[in-house]
This record gives sequence, C-alpha cells and structure tokens, in this order.
Amino acid sequence: MKILVINAGSSSLKYQLMESDNGEVFAKGLCERIGIDGSRLKHEKIGQDSVVIEVPMPTHSEAIAAVIEALTDADHGVINSLEEIEAVGHRVVHGGEKFAASAIIDDDVKAAIRDCFPLAPLHNPPNMTGIEACEKAMPGVPMVAVFDTAFHQTMPDYAYMYALPYEYYEKHAVRRYGFHGTSHKFVSDQAAELIGKPKDELKIITLHLGNGSSISAVDQGRCVDTTMGLTPLAGVPMGTRCGDIDPAIVKFLADSEDLTVAEIDNIMNKQSGMLGVSGVSSDFRDLGAAKDEGNKRAELALNMFMYQCRKVVGSYVAAMGGVDAIVFTAGVGENDKGVREGICDGLEFIGIEIDQDKNRNLERGKPTNVAKDSSKVAVLVIPTDEELVIAMDTAELAKNK
Ligand code: ADP
Repeated sequence: MKILVINAGSSSLKYQLMESDNGEVFAKGLCERIGIDGSRLKHEKIGQDSVVIEVPMPTHSEAIAAVIEALTDADHGVINSLEEIEAVGHRVVHGGEKFAASAIIDDDVKAAIRDCFPLAPLHNPPNMTGIEACEKAMPGVPMVAVFDTAFHQTMPDYAYMYALPYEYYEKHAVRRYGFHGTSHKFVSDQAAELIGKPKDELKIITLHLGNGSSISAVDQGRCVDTTMGLTPLAGVPMGTRCGDIDPAIVKFLADSEDLTVAEIDNIMNKQSGMLGVSGVSSDFRDLGAAKDEGNKRAELALNMFMYQCRKVVGSYVAAMGGVDAIVFTAGVGENDKGVREGICDGLEFIGIEIDQDKNRNLERGKPTNVAKDSSKVAVLVIPTDEELVIAMDTAELAKNK
C-alpha cells in the first residue's frame, strides 16, 4: 500500500511517501518554520536532487497543501493524484495508558489524544494539528495514529510506578511511559531476525542513542523497562537534556539562582546534557572532535554519557535475569564507534565482548553483529526505521478497516 507518513512538530512537519509492503521510499521532505516568517518546504524525490520551495505556511493546513502539491508535481512529484495515497500514518508522541498499539483515527481516538495534551504539551497538540490538516485535505482516506509510548505499555506496574503518593497516579496518571517505542520495537524485532531465533526466546537491551536517547529492556518481545519516564527528559543524559538527576535539585536551583520552575524545566530540556556539561555542542561529532583537541569538558560529557548508558545496561541485565543481545541504534548508536566501545568497555563480565575490528569497519546501513566470536552476548548495530514501522502499522489497520 502507498502510505503517507506524517510527523508533525510545533513548527515543522516531516513526511515520507512509501510502499508499506517492501519499505520503498518514493519521496520525503520537511516543512520548516510553519507559523513563522520564511517558511519553506524541502522535498526530495528519491533519486533526484532535493528542491526547496518557499511558500507561506501560516498553519499546518498550508504545510499539508504544499506537501500534496510537491508529491503531485509534474517534475519532482511521485504520484499523479491524491487518490493514490491509500492511507496516512501519523506519529503521535503520547498515547497515555489508553494505547498499547496503533489505532485507526476516529472521534474517540482524537479525544484520547487530546486527553494526553497535559502529558506532552510540546508534542501532542502539533501531532493533532497535523491529523486535522490531513483529514481536511484528504477526506475519506484512513488515518492511523502510531504512538511513541505504545510499545512500553507492557511494563509491569512495579517498573512504571513512581514512589510518589498514589493519588497522583490516580488523578493525573503520573507514571513512567517511555518513548521511541516504534524504534525499540523495530530494532528488537530485527535483532531476533539477525540472531535467527524467535523473539520469545530472547532477552534484548535496545539502546536508541540520538539527540534524545533511551534504553529499553525487551524480554520475549515485550518491553519490561525503559529509561524515559512521564516525559522524554528522564534517563541517560542527552544532547541538551539532563536525564536523571536528584529531583531536589529543582528546588535547590530555584532558591539559589532565583529561577521559576518553568525556567528550570527549560534549562533541563534545552541547555543541559552534553551541551550543558561540555559548553561545546550537543552534537556527538563536535564533542568527539573537541575531545581529540584536548577539550576536557567535552571528554567529561562523553564519559558521563557512556558511564550512564553502561550502568543502565548492567541494571537491565539484572532486571531481566540475563541478556542475549544488546542493540545500538539511531544517530549516535549507528555512527559513533567510540561511544559503542566506551559503553561496552567493562561489561565483559556479563559476556558482552565487542570486537574492535568489526566495530570500526562497519558497512553503514547494514545490520551487523560486532561482537567477538567468543562473546556470549550479541552486540548489534541496527539502523532504525521509525517511518517503516508507522507505514506497516498503518497499512495493516487500514486494510482491515
Ligand atoms: P534525533 O533524536 O533528533 O532523531 P538522531 O537519531 O538523528 O537524532 O541522532 C542525531 C545525533 O546523532 C546527532 O546529534 C549526532 O550527535 C549524532 N551523529 C550523527 N552522525 C554521527 C557520526 N557520524 N558520528 C557521531 N555521532 C553522529
């Protein structure tokens, strides 16, 4: 089926038109600066140079209109008419406790996505705007919501509950949800295929390390724990996010720096992590270069990141009572060989032995086991493909509609 995959942010909208049966991508692109002066669409017909189209996009509706125009354009388009799009898959960040799987979008599903606005105020409202803009532009075309949180809904209560008064869970659904679920599901399924064993016989730890990073424990194909929490701020340190810190630091900083909670929240999300510690950059390529030039704080930031990831891997081995494979994915996980080695370094005692040669001479984009032949645990590098998961889920649900 020809599926349009939409990932709508507050001022941006990413899209990809693809065939769900074989994963072939026909075209993809990004609308930027929606609602801001200077909005533009960068569109790429696969196999051709990308084009930049400057067009006013006061709202997501104009962005969707521009996407449709680009997809049907005589020169850089890939379809003759809108009718060729058989279904639309929307990435929705937060599905709360209501969604353990993707869902065909109807009024009830939209109401449930709206109910989750307080849990993801930066993400769910623009996701919904994208859904409504598509519904207006393509009436009658099945729309599917694919949730970042769904895969993690199998966590047991003792893993997802926070030790706060129980009433906050009952009143506000304060608990761990986890994110990047489509990625953790995709790479854990791929890992089972690569190893050649059914997933219900495997214990896998998936490390999605990008700008935002999260690690999951996947036992028999089901997520049993993950590092992100109520929000994507929790877990290991990230590009600009602090990850887990002593919660009392919020009050301490509010008092000592005379900051509001909202200001501290902004600092923890946007000025912390690798950027905050190094003072150099949130980008791991910049950090690696700065470290090589002798920058001590860049080195410290990298060491902190690798140490916290290593600690989580160790704790998830304990959580599952063993591990058969660890999987590195996303921008850093797929590309940064030094980070992979740094995380595995010291984990030989649980049977994780990375092969330096294999790790440093990977064929980019190809799922690979970089463990030593003697390693008890597979060490896999697997490119993630969240769009493909969204397209496959969308096709599956749209077919049965
Ligand atoms: P997002 O969380 O935004 O989806 P990605 O998964 O695309 O992020 O990861 C982006 C990050 O990947 C960049 O910030 C960069 O640090 C890192 N990255 C990309 N390529 C490389 C590379 N060749 N070496 C090291 N890090 C890389």
